[in-house]
Amino acid sequence: MHISAECYPVAKAGGLGDVVGALPKYQLEAGHIAKVLMPMYRTPYLYNHEWEVVHQGYTNMGSRWFNFTIIKEKSNELGFDLYLMDIHQLLDREKIYGYSDDTERFVAFQIAALDWVSSWRHSPSVIHVHDHHTGLIPFMLRECYKYRNISHIPVVFTIHNAEYQGIMGWDKSYYLPEYNTWNWGKLDWNNAINALAAGVKSADRVTTVSPSYLQQLKWQSNGLESLFEMETGKCFGILNGIDKNVWNPETDRYLEHTFKPEEAEAGKLKNKYSLCDDFGLDYDKPMIVFIGRLVGEKGAEILPDMIRDCFEYIGRKMNFLILGSGMPEIEHRLNSLKELARNDYNVYIGYNEQLSHRMYAGADFLLMPSRVEPCGLNQMYAMRYGTMPMVRRTGGLKDTVTDFGEAGGYGICFNDVSVGDASHAVWRAVELYRNKEKMKECRDRMMQLDFGWERSAEEYLKLYQQIN
Ligand code: ADP
Repeated sequence: MHISAECYPVAKAGGLGDVVGALPKYQLEAGHIAKVLMPMYRTPYLYNHEWEVVHQGYTNMGSRWFNFTIIKEKSNELGFDLYLMDIHQLLDREKIYGYSDDTERFVAFQIAALDWVSSWRHSPSVIHVHDHHTGLIPFMLRECYKYRNISHIPVVFTIHNAEYQGIMGWDKSYYLPEYNTWNWGKLDWNNAINALAAGVKSADRVTTVSPSYLQQLKWQSNGLESLFEMETGKCFGILNGIDKNVWNPETDRYLEHTFKPEEAEAGKLKNKYSLCDDFGLDYDKPMIVFIGRLVGEKGAEILPDMIRDCFEYIGRKMNFLILGSGMPEIEHRLNSLKELARNDYNVYIGYNEQLSHRMYAGADFLLMPSRVEPCGLNQMYAMRYGTMPMVRRTGGLKDTVTDFGEAGGYGICFNDVSVGDASHAVWRAVELYRNKEKMKECRDRMMQLDFGWERSAEEYLKLYQQIN
């Protein structure tokens, strides 16, 4: 039973949604039963599908009592059982995150989730929770008296991003159902309740979404470094895969021009023409795109200066298209660049699933100057669509991309999150683009790479077996 705040295509803000939408499918294919429980938000998916009520409950978060309802998607469209939890006035909002009462929303979700599971006759053999929004579940399962009947169920906690930790003051500890106070220390980190830390301390196994990210957390995890060092024995790095059915250039329903790997050159060109037409870009030049959250973690703040520098020092030999949203200052700076570089630069501020697919398909290069990248899915999608990744060597990017200068390589790698390093990578891309043969060789190589979930799903199953 996966419990998560996101699951594609129901609700997705980033990689977490992609992973929880894909992993259960592959676990089913491997012959196991996988289910997903997530909050019920007001998303188009909710309104476009039929649901049946499977459970209704009444519970409390401290002094606040509330009703909750679990609904199940009727047609089993995704292949696995999908359950949504409705908590009126708390979860049923349009956005997934970003409200002032997010703490209350997700604590209530976790309490109601365990209430539901504890009322089942056939409890799950493993509970798999994801990121800090569900990080209190391992603690509550073990320590809250209310859940004694299910406290034996093994729990796996996967960290997709340790930057966000779900911190709340001790004054809110009364939100949790009565627990063994001798073990209050499992909730604590730096005199506050820290959901991510509590999850790491209480789960039977902890995984991160790439092996390099696991190492990185020991020296860079927003204050939890020593915790990861101490808990290293139960932590494992398992690289994410990609959902090869959703991300397939031959069948992608978002693309105007689908293409087979052997026709990648022509197929990509058609997609590039259509993107260039829509965004007023020059299609004779190599197209470099960025897709992602416009935040420091992704190195997005260097983009405006980098683009300016590239035009000034390399010349107008490439075009850039950016898709993302995030920090208002970065959004503003990216918007104001439009005036400077018509025909060679454009930006779409916002979240647009279809446009992201079109960009993976039509671009020549995908830039990821990330400061922190637990796994990174964009580079894998890009490679599957024949778009060369340009990545900073960090976390999962380091685990999945080899520089074309190295034997068997197919990408562009650089070391620092700096305008200089990223501009140098752009210069290398522009030079490489002129060498059609080398471009084709790299493209053929990366399109043959297999980033499917099969192997990683198998690793998760092995982990489940260890603790059962
Ligand atoms: P993170 O979860 O840290 O944001 P990942 O690389 O793990 O990063 O996953 C990002 C996912 O979100 C990818 O599927 C990417 O295409 C998608 N994505 C990010 N920003 C946008 C956007 N503005 N519009 C559409 N898709 C986006």
